[in-house]
Amino acid sequence: MDRLSKCNANYVPLTPLMFLKRASNSYANRPSIIYENTRFTWRQTYERCRRLASSLQSLNILKNHVVSVLAPNVPAMYEMHFAVPMAGAVLNTINTRLDAKNIATILRHSEAKALFVDYQYVQLASEALRMLMDDSTGHGQSSNMPLVVVIDDIDSPTGVRLGELEYEELIHNGNPRFVPLEIDDEWDPIALNYTSGTTSEPKGVVYSHRGAYLSTLSLILGWEMGNEPVYLWSLPMFHCNGWTFTWGVAARGGTNICIRNTSAYDMYRSIATHKVTHMCCAPIVFNILLEAKPEERRQISSPVHVLTGGAPPPASLLEKMELLGFHITHAYGMTEATGPALVCEWQAKWNHLSNERKAKLKARQGISVLTLEDVDVKNMETMASVPHDGRTVGEIVLRGSSIMKGYFKDEEATSKAFKNGWFFTGDVGVIHPDGYLEIKDRSKDVIISGGENISSVELESILYKHPRVLEAAVVAMPHPRWGESPCAFISVRENASGETEDVKEADIINYCRKNMPHFMVPKKVKFLSQLPKTSTGKIQKFQLRALAKSFQVT
Ligand code: ADP
Repeated sequence: MDRLSKCNANYVPLTPLMFLKRASNSYANRPSIIYENTRFTWRQTYERCRRLASSLQSLNILKNHVVSVLAPNVPAMYEMHFAVPMAGAVLNTINTRLDAKNIATILRHSEAKALFVDYQYVQLASEALRMLMDDSTGHGQSSNMPLVVVIDDIDSPTGVRLGELEYEELIHNGNPRFVPLEIDDEWDPIALNYTSGTTSEPKGVVYSHRGAYLSTLSLILGWEMGNEPVYLWSLPMFHCNGWTFTWGVAARGGTNICIRNTSAYDMYRSIATHKVTHMCCAPIVFNILLEAKPEERRQISSPVHVLTGGAPPPASLLEKMELLGFHITHAYGMTEATGPALVCEWQAKWNHLSNERKAKLKARQGISVLTLEDVDVKNMETMASVPHDGRTVGEIVLRGSSIMKGYFKDEEATSKAFKNGWFFTGDVGVIHPDGYLEIKDRSKDVIISGGENISSVELESILYKHPRVLEAAVVAMPHPRWGESPCAFISVRENASGETEDVKEADIINYCRKNMPHFMVPKKVKFLSQLPKTSTGKIQKFQLRALAKSFQVT
C-alpha cells in the first residue's frame, strides 16, 4: 500500500479546460453556441479556442499574464474562458457596467497584458485606456499599456476599430492544432475576478484551475443539470465566470444561447425558440420576467430550471416565478467562493407542501455544495458554532478548495478575511434544525433598534408581498430614542391607470403593522422611482443609508 500511495503516474492536475476537449470528442456535432444567426458545434468551438490560444502566444502573451475582456454574453466571451487559459494566461472578465475610472483601476491593478473589447464598449474602453496612458506616461511607462483587440459583432460586423487587432482575424490566423499549454500545478491561476464593491473597494480574487474545476462539478451536481442542457446566458459571464457555467455547459455537452441584453423580449424569445432548459440569474431579473408586457411574453411550454442567487430572493417572487413555469433553485455565494458555495437542495419530502411553504423553504440559502469542506455559523465574540435552532444568529463562515487563496496583491485584506482556516463572509445567518442555512443580513446591514436585531432581509421579504411594491430595501436610520430604526425605500408598481402616486407612506406603515412585530415596522417610508444599484444589479444600501441619515424622526 505504501508503494501504491506514492504512485502518481496518473496524477492529472484538475482543470475545467478538460471539459472542452471531451465535448469536442463526444458531442462533436452538437451545437455548442447559438447567437442570433451564428451557430457553432463543439468541434468548431474547440478548434476556434485552439486558434485563439495560439494567436495569443504569438502576441507574446505568456504564462500567468492577465488578459482582460470587456464584453457582453457573446460567443467570443465564451470562447475566451477556454482559449486564454489554454495559452497559460489568466482571464480577467470586467463588469461592463463599471465606469472608465474603475475599469482603468482594474487594468492597472491586474497589470493586464491585453484587453479584448466588444465593439459596443469601444468608447468606454478608450476612455479607460486614456486614463491608464496618462498614468503610465506620468511614470515614464507607456510600454505597460495592454494590447487592444476589438471583438466585432460576429453576425453584422460594424468595422469599429480600436488599434490594429481584431478578434476574428486572430482566430483566422491561429493554429487549429495548437496544443494547450500544460498545467504544472492545479493551483495555478485560471481567472482573476474583481468583487463588485457593494461594501468596500473592489478586490481581485484569484481562481485556481482546481477551484474552478471543483466548483463547476459542485454546481452541476447541486442543480442536477443533466447532459445536453440548453443554457440561456441571462447571467453575465463577467459575474464569477457565469457562476462557473461557462465551463459547466461544456462539461454537459450543452448548448449556449448567447444574448447581448437581458430584456424580457430577448429572454422570452430565446426560451421559446431554443427550448431553453436552464438559466441563471439574480433575483432582480425575476422582476423583468414578471413585469413583461403581454407582447413580450411567450408561453413557457416546458420546464425552465432557474438557478438564482447573488442577493436574497423574496419568497413571494419565487412563488410567482414558479407559477409562470420556472423551476427555481436558490444558491448563495460570492466572488471569493468561486461562485455559489451553498445550494438549497430540494428534498422529496417537501413535495406535498403548499406553494407558499415551498417558496419559503426555497428562499433559504441551503447547504454546502458538494466540494466545499464545511460551512458554519459562528458567534463573533466566542467563535463558537451557533445552535441549529433557526433563531440564533452568527457570521457565516466557509472552508474548502473552492474558496479563494487570497486577494491579488493585498495581503492585509487577505489576512483579515481568514481566521483559523475559515473564510469569514461578512453575512449574518442562522442554521435551521434540518441543517439548512438562512441569511438574515450582511453584518453591516443589520438594524439594531432598542437592542433588538432587525433583519433587513426579513422586513424586505414582507414588503415584497404587498401587491404594489416593486422593489424594497430597508436600512438603519438614526433614531433619538431607539438608536437606530428601520427606514424603507420602495419603488411602486403602477396601478391599472398607470399611476404610482396613489400609494402613500401611511398605507405601507399600516400594512407593516398588520404583518410584522411592531418593533420591526419602518419608522419612515420613502418612495423612489428606482432604487440605486451596483454594477451587478444589487441595491446600493450605502447610498440609501446616507439618504436616511438626513431624515428627521421623532
Ligand atoms: P459584493 O460583495 O461586492 O456584492 P459579490 O457579488 O461577491 O460581491 O456578492 C456576494 C454577496 O452577495 C454575499 O456576501 C451576500 O451578501 C450576497 N448574496 C449572494 N447570494 C445571496 C443569496 N442567495 N441570498 C442573500 N444574499 C446573497
